[in-house]
Amino acid sequence: MNSQDIVIPPELRPSDGRFGSGPSKVRPEAMAALLEAAPGYLGTSHRQLPVRSMVGRARDGLRELFELPEDYEVVLGNGGSTAFWDAMVFGLIEARSQHLVFGEFSAKCAGAARLAPFLEDPEVISAEPGSHPEPHPSETVDLYALTHNETSTGVTMPLERVPGEGLTVVDATSAAGGLPVTAEAFDVYYFAPQKCFASDGGLWVALCSPAALDRIGRVASSGRYIPPSLDLRIALDNSRANQTYNTPGLATLFLMVEQVEWLLASGGLGWAVGRCARSAGILYGWATESASASPFVADPRARSPVVGTIDLAESIVAADVAAALRANGMVDTEPYRKLGRNQLRIGMFPAVEPGDVGLLTRSIDYVIGVLG
Ligand SMILES: *Cc1c(COP(=O)(O)O)cnc(C)c1O
Repeated sequence: MNSQDIVIPPELRPSDGRFGSGPSKVRPEAMAALLEAAPGYLGTSHRQLPVRSMVGRARDGLRELFELPEDYEVVLGNGGSTAFWDAMVFGLIEARSQHLVFGEFSAKCAGAARLAPFLEDPEVISAEPGSHPEPHPSETVDLYALTHNETSTGVTMPLERVPGEGLTVVDATSAAGGLPVTAEAFDVYYFAPQKCFASDGGLWVALCSPAALDRIGRVASSGRYIPPSLDLRIALDNSRANQTYNTPGLATLFLMVEQVEWLLASGGLGWAVGRCARSAGILYGWATESASASPFVADPRARSPVVGTIDLAESIVAADVAAALRANGMVDTEPYRKLGRNQLRIGMFPAVEPGDVGLLTRSIDYVIGVLG
């Protein structure tokens, strides 16, 4: 039977079939709020109050969600986390960075630093996909580039500030809003809104400690060439005025604010963390019990609560399972392309209902039953 022709019984189908790891599910309530606000908001100037107050709500809401100390700042700019890597290379690394590489995203971040002709070659500490390396405090390094959740492999690592003078700068693109963190653990915690913040892409947000703010000022006045659109001091000045240097995606901003305020109203970061943990408990519990599935990440502590990677038995073609799910409205369960495993990857960000993860596992069982 062609996998796309499989019809999954309606009672096994989730209420919402979006399980992507980014872009990911946008809550229908947030879409409805955007539609209602649109006439006075979309298509209006980002230098005027309606949009500037939205940037202000984003900054205030994120400060509250992450319980940031007074002297930390929320900085925003355009281009998503990938653009932030370049901003970091131009504006945060003084001479040499250390990178923990354990998947595609952390490798790309290290690659951005390696390309910069004005920096020394970065120190790269790698681990096999499915595990994570540990940082090595070093006198020759002024910035440690960590990744809280490696989205390509579904590995999370515990976050602690690396001892010494170097800044701890964390790619939290898929972690922020779903994994526990405290401000003491980082100098910069940066992310984009299309994952836990259930919005669209194109924006980056960086939570910055006083040491990070000092570094931004020092590098910006060092005489190094910095393209203005990647200049963190310019981004900081604009953020303080509740603006971005150039035009942001207004719908993106709006949907992110909806999600931040929804998380706060529901109980804050602790609530979101608990909800993702509940979804992950359902997914990994099912995979551990199943004869035809198993968690890809061997160490249970390193299994991501927001991006689950599930290997399937050799007798089942994961791509066929993902295709059958897609034909039945459950989308984006395909694995990360370059990992090349017989695997499903399931986004379990806070917008996803834990009950829907349970129904997804039942749908997968159904498809495997028909294909087998
Ligand atoms: C999604 C993701 C990125 C890339 O984000 P963009 O906004 O598309 O640039 C970077 N790092 C991690 C860990 C991610 O999950």
